[in-house]
Amino acid sequence: MIPKVDKNICEGIGACAESCPTEVIDIGEDDNGALKAIIARPDDCVECGNCVDACPTEAITLE
Ligand code: SF4
Repeated sequence: MIPKVDKNICEGIGACAESCPTEVIDIGEDDNGALKAIIARPDDCVECGNCVDACPTEAITLE
C-alpha cells in the first residue's frame, strides 16, 4: 500500500508530512499555486497510517 492524496480535499496543512517517520510526503504548490501534499518518496512508506490519522480533512488513504 501507498498513501493516496485526494487533491480536491487536501488543504496543504502539512500534518501528514510532519507525522511521517520516513519523510515520504512533501508539501508543494499545484498548478494553481495551492499547497498540496505530494507523495514524493512512496518507496519509503512503511504503512504506519500516521498520515491518515493526522489529516484533519481525511484527504489521505492507504491503498
Ligand atoms: S503510512 Fe506512515 S510511512 Fe507511509 S506515508 Fe503515511 S506516515 Fe509515512
